[in-house]
Amino acid sequence: MTTRTKPVIAIDGPAGAGKSTISRLLAHRLGYVLVDTGALYRGLALLAKKEDVSWDDEATLAQLCRDTKFHFEPGEDGRSRLFIDDRDRSDAIRTQSISDGASRVSRHPSVRGALLTLQRHLGANGAVVMEGRDIGTVVFPDAEVKVFLTAAPEVRAKRRVEELEHMGQQVDFEDVLDTIRDRDRRDSMRAVAPLVPARDAILVDTSDLSIDQAVERLEQIVRERFPA
Ligand code: C5P
Repeated sequence: MTTRTKPVIAIDGPAGAGKSTISRLLAHRLGYVLVDTGALYRGLALLAKKEDVSWDDEATLAQLCRDTKFHFEPGEDGRSRLFIDDRDRSDAIRTQSISDGASRVSRHPSVRGALLTLQRHLGANGAVVMEGRDIGTVVFPDAEVKVFLTAAPEVRAKRRVEELEHMGQQVDFEDVLDTIRDRDRRDSMRAVAPLVPARDAILVDTSDLSIDQAVERLEQIVRERFPA
């Protein structure tokens, strides 16, 4: 039984479907808190790299998770900033290598277990837009609104290239497309919490939608269920 008076909006989907931008703008329009759960997996991958812990070493990774303090603070641009042991690591987690590491560390059941408690805590009071891969299926199976965002792999790769170039990183389209396909495969085939839409999720394909149109569509979905 939930004691929330405000909803949890679960937004899941693959890399590049537009989750981050759409979730951020939706949270802003609704006046809700934004929780980017991918940032936690990225943060762990970064930490492991710094501490020389292998992305395959499940037990040490899970321990590292439990020994580390992760928290978010709203940034000036409306993005949430990730702090790891009180140090802002928001920019360092946005590289190709850390994207790959995040997908690797996220395969381990005990890592997912360690981060589950934290994610549930962050959404406990509702009024939250939580984005990830398994929010509607595992983290908040009782979320009041569940949306699964998708887009064609080529569209997603193009968006990722633009995003990385915007951050000053030079990348090759084909490399990014390959990485996206690899991550899709790993994320959807892993044994624990695979990337699949919840049975009661609303599917939204953003391939042919502008960001504004997608945000509009999601806001409409939320308002239909929770008139302001
Ligand atoms: O969303 P983002 O690209 O930042 O996520 C990085 C990686 O973290 C994903 O490829 C996925 O493997 C993992 N992840 C996850 N479960 C979540 C969020 C992210 O497994 N809820």
